[in-house]
Amino acid sequence: MKVQVNEERCQGHGLCRLSAPNFFFARVEDGHAEVRSEDVPDEEREAVLLAAESCPELAIDVSD
Ligand code: SF4
Repeated sequence: MKVQVNEERCQGHGLCRLSAPNFFFARVEDGHAEVRSEDVPDEEREAVLLAAESCPELAIDVSD
């Protein structure tokens, strides 16, 4: 599975970090989300899907 954060949509709420703390990080400059990598390892899959569902800006795109 692949994941990307839409830069224009992300508002830096940080809910993604609560759902997948090992995968999403806050960018120092503005708190917007960054991902550890575009490729999601199997052990992070459920957490990343939860993060995508919980993002209020629909800024997290996942694809297989
Ligand atoms: S929850 Fe969505 S809008 Fe908030 S920081 Fe994460 S990706 Fe950005």
